[in-house]
Amino acid sequence: MTSFADEARIAFDNLADRTSDLFNPTLRLGVTGLSRAGKTVFISALVHNLLHAGRLPLFSPQASGRIARTYLEEQPDDAVPRFQYEDHIARLLDERDWPNSTRAISELRLTVEFESASGWSRMFSRGRLSIDIVDYPGEWLLDLPLIGKDFAAFSAESIQRAKLPGREAIAGPFLQLLGEIDPNAAMDEPTAQKLSRAFSAYLTAARADNTALSTLPPGRFLMPGDLEGSPALTFAPLPPATDGPYAKNSLGAVLDRRYEAYKTIVVKPFFRDHFARLDRQILLVDALQAINAGPEAVRDLEIALSDILRCFRPGRASWLGSLLTRRIDRILVAATKADHLHRESHRRLEAIVRRLVEGAVKRADFSGADTQVIAMAAVRATREARIEDNGDDLPVIVGVPQAGERIGGETFDGRTETAIFPGDLPKDPTSLFMDMDGHATRADPIRFVRFRPPKLERTQDGLTLSLPHIRLDRALEFLMGDRLR
Ligand code: GDP
Repeated sequence: MTSFADEARIAFDNLADRTSDLFNPTLRLGVTGLSRAGKTVFISALVHNLLHAGRLPLFSPQASGRIARTYLEEQPDDAVPRFQYEDHIARLLDERDWPNSTRAISELRLTVEFESASGWSRMFSRGRLSIDIVDYPGEWLLDLPLIGKDFAAFSAESIQRAKLPGREAIAGPFLQLLGEIDPNAAMDEPTAQKLSRAFSAYLTAARADNTALSTLPPGRFLMPGDLEGSPALTFAPLPPATDGPYAKNSLGAVLDRRYEAYKTIVVKPFFRDHFARLDRQILLVDALQAINAGPEAVRDLEIALSDILRCFRPGRASWLGSLLTRRIDRILVAATKADHLHRESHRRLEAIVRRLVEGAVKRADFSGADTQVIAMAAVRATREARIEDNGDDLPVIVGVPQAGERIGGETFDGRTETAIFPGDLPKDPTSLFMDMDGHATRADPIRFVRFRPPKLERTQDGLTLSLPHIRLDRALEFLMGDRLR
């Protein structure tokens, strides 16, 4: 249930949003995904392509020449950090290096002035739409289930997950420390910090490239932002006291209180102040990383995506459901970094991601929300070619691998253009998933190296330069094309 203060605050925010909407139509677009899914790169490429009339043949307002002017404006929320567009673009274009990734929430307002598609409306006025892009870590959405869980339930679940087979190496040190601790002993700050650091180290290790597990709240332990070191972020799950509640002023009692503070100070305000005001949402998914890490990681990604999607359509009776006065009506699930594969595999990548989110879409009530899945590269760092290898005609991708990247015995210098045969994704996505008994055939890994960002391309008019991409225009059409008619 929402508190009275929550409700008053939301009513006020919504009234303010609606009033300003009357004078200045706005679209609040949420951009999320787990860390390193490609949020920063996506927003930078989207804004650059719109500001510089990029090549976007499938984005109808641009393709039909109806966009009159596009510019950045002061964002509406003074308390939210601004998305550092200029820094990110400078890094992409001038240094041909990737920008720093999303660490916390940020916002940017892009305003588009356009001619209406119908001649009738065109006679009267020029349209104007402000797009408020809200960038936030997908990990934060994984915290939603915590709202309904007390410390005992959170602890039991987290400890059970840490003990899952295959997690010994990453969870071992935390579990060992936990074994040495008496939660009923008097509170001692160094012990609380040590435990919290060990828990956090385990959550971070779970996200590493070769493990790629994704389903581990609390989200802010991975992305602490300016709350790092605060009591609300210095806790860890604990075993229950043997008889009844934890003793007064014990370690258990204090960490229990801090867990509740985390929910009140961190989790609820994010959903209330930011999430509840979104109109549309793109969810970026790095499926290739999970596929390469193996079936465990694929299953884990599936669970994380399902938890994330659940936030977009919460039951009306739930805490979040009762908060939402507007509902997200379009959700785009985009498999990112498709430029690591030859075009022939893009459909397969789409099929895999569709399969990843299928269960979640079926389970949640998605009526009223249009959901699409595409394979995309916000920035295309490679081009396609074919080479002959022992009589075989192989589809390859060509780009400049980043310095230090390796394939087989070869280490790249960051300057040389190289053709790579990435391998094929399986025709049948089912083979990547575990069956009911936890069995799966491990797919051949994709030959995956990180490429440097590309040079700018000339657009069709030959005058402007724009960042190349794969299907960014389709994404834009789905996310905002109808609002620019
Ligand atoms: P975030 O954590 O979601 O903000 O992720 P980023 O946008 O920072 O992306 C993480 C990394 O993924 C980047 O540093 C790039 O190496 C890679 N990446 C993201 N998008 C693309 C893309 O469209 N193409 C290619 N080749 N690499 C990408």
